[in-house]
Amino acid sequence: MRPSPSFYFLFMLVTLFAVPLGIAAKSSEKSVPSATGSIREEIPDAYKERYQRWKAEFLTAEIGQAQWELYARHPQLVLTITVSRENEFGAGSGKYKWNAAGELIAATVTLGAKINEGFPSSVYYPVMNALEPYEKQKLISGNVLAATKIAHEFGHVMKIGTIAEPLYHLQLRLAPIYNTIFLSNGHNVDDPRLVELARQMGGNPVQIWEDREYWGEANAMLYLRDRVAKERFHCRLFNQIKRSVEEYAKPYEERFTAIAKSQGVIYSCSWR
Ligand SMILES: [Zn+2]
Repeated sequence: MRPSPSFYFLFMLVTLFAVPLGIAAKSSEKSVPSATGSIREEIPDAYKERYQRWKAEFLTAEIGQAQWELYARHPQLVLTITVSRENEFGAGSGKYKWNAAGELIAATVTLGAKINEGFPSSVYYPVMNALEPYEKQKLISGNVLAATKIAHEFGHVMKIGTIAEPLYHLQLRLAPIYNTIFLSNGHNVDDPRLVELARQMGGNPVQIWEDREYWGEANAMLYLRDRVAKERFHCRLFNQIKRSVEEYAKPYEERFTAIAKSQGVIYSCSWR
């Protein structure tokens, strides 16, 4: 049985939005612009071997290679990648910094130490979740799962790069205020104070959060589009993603459909 949407709404408000963004707020001050962009891999020795396997898997896909090159040669963004024991099956992006011209110049992707294991829920992670049966049947390795999680994080960084810095900080500032009111008004999203805050932020905190997650998932799908194109199960995999998107992410369906349509191999499955 699946929890109701209102359960997720409350759950996300309390656990997923307020806390990570609160941390990000402290580390997103302006800093001196870097001369050129690059990828800085700050990987503890204990995790170097596994990280290289995950990265190699990410780079086997054409789009993985292209996105890596994009950041390795980026004109101003320094992308730091690290591996941490915290949140070992998950990953996160943050420590965003912008220059005076409003360009994103720094971001950090933190990969959990065991991202080759663990499948998040299909509600917000329809792409990563869809890999589970194929990993269980050993049709794909855990390294593919890890590379898909890397792609998800790259999706976050790409999306943040398109958001105006003032809006990002406005959302950081107003989300906790929204959450405090929401938790004290009987969870009434029609409260005029909340309606006004959501208008300023461009959505309520959960909408903003899920929009970001689904951008991460869209990039994960882009990676899998290339990675599993030649696997005989690719239609079954993408059909499962489609079912989860239709069930849980209907307002965001277009971004997934656009990827499916971008290459005949998925479109010829059942994305129409
Ligand atoms: Zn994410």
